[in-house]
Amino acid sequence: MRHSQHLIRAAIDDSGIASLPCACGRESALHLIDEFFEALDADPGSLVGAGWMDEHAVDSSFFHRSAPAVARILMAALPGYDTGAAREVLLEALADLCSGDTDDLVARCRAVIRPGVPMFLEEIASGRSSVNASFAFEIIDMLGEDAWVAFAREQLADFLPRALLDDGDGRVASAP
Ligand SMILES: [Zn+2]
Repeated sequence: MRHSQHLIRAAIDDSGIASLPCACGRESALHLIDEFFEALDADPGSLVGAGWMDEHAVDSSFFHRSAPAVARILMAALPGYDTGAAREVLLEALADLCSGDTDDLVARCRAVIRPGVPMFLEEIASGRSSVNASFAFEIIDMLGEDAWVAFAREQLADFLPRALLDDGDGRVASAP
């Protein structure tokens, strides 16, 4: 947890995740976050597409009670991990946390992630990574931010994969 260490720690404390049960059976979901940041700093590539939240905070599209707390912590971490695989891991997880079948918990996750729309637009327009731009676009789309989706389609199309723009529903079909 090299980057934004104080902000991330504050978000962890504020989220109350330590007092939430983990779906894996442990009394506290804090272990998930501790192990996540350890791996994120040591070897972020190992977390790409790894489903690190599975059986702890989410099960496929079913969310557990800790999911909104995880979303809050990841949002606090995002500005500090500004490039590379670590940022991809964070954006991938936030995209997952915008989509699910557990209505109340998904709504709470989206409420936490929605204020990040300017960050997601910046990610797209930065041209740093087409994979991360795709996740950022997907998040805005899943949040139902239709005006910003239209803005990105019209003004930032050069930074988005054509397949994503042609897809219609915004879901990252085959990437990365
Ligand atoms: Zn667990």
